[in-house]
Amino acid sequence: MSRAVVLLSGGLDSSTTLGIAAKEYEELCALTFIYGQKHEKEIESAKKIASHYCVEEHKILNIPLSKIGRSSLLKNGEKIPEHQGENIGESIPSTYVPARNMIMLSYALCYAESIGADAVYIGATARDYSGYPDCRPEFFHAFEEMAEEGTERGLEGSPVKIKYPLIHMTKGDIVKKAHEIGVPLRWTWSCYKGEKKACGECDSCKLRLKGFEEAGIEDPIDYVEKDP
Ligand SMILES: [Zn+2]
Repeated sequence: MSRAVVLLSGGLDSSTTLGIAAKEYEELCALTFIYGQKHEKEIESAKKIASHYCVEEHKILNIPLSKIGRSSLLKNGEKIPEHQGENIGESIPSTYVPARNMIMLSYALCYAESIGADAVYIGATARDYSGYPDCRPEFFHAFEEMAEEGTERGLEGSPVKIKYPLIHMTKGDIVKKAHEIGVPLRWTWSCYKGEKKACGECDSCKLRLKGFEEAGIEDPIDYVEKDP
């Protein structure tokens, strides 16, 4: 049986990545983190998506990055900024969580090597993104090299593959792909705020809405209604 580990936050990108992994591997394990983010609404989304894909095992791990890290996405961090408008991606916003992808990929690699999985999937994209340094192809190439050097599988010549299938896709491409492969988008949660409905205003909501608009598909989740 071929097996892969998927990092699953419960958002549009990681859920689409799980859908892609489900076409490429027979057995999937998902890994979700409670890392000290301000809200845990996305964790509920991750559980529903994982169960939709009948993952073999869905691990939800606590890693309290809020105790050492500084970011507006973390508890005790400053207020989450409003949308950056046209400047999105030009500078690194306060929602960047230091070294988050490095830490999460390291956990995923530990898990994958331990259970005999051949790949780790992460739903990062370097198009239509917030400018986070650990979402760029250069970072993933460097991580692949590290995984080859720093694991038993690597030294034996069969390193765990690091897969980031969305890296060159726009948000529109991602929504189209998700729609095409039947990802249950109504359960995904992207908003930085953990309220009943998505705010429609934060960077993450704006990028998501742009994706649906480009794809010509209606976003099935509820948004806070704006004043006319
Ligand atoms: Zn939002």
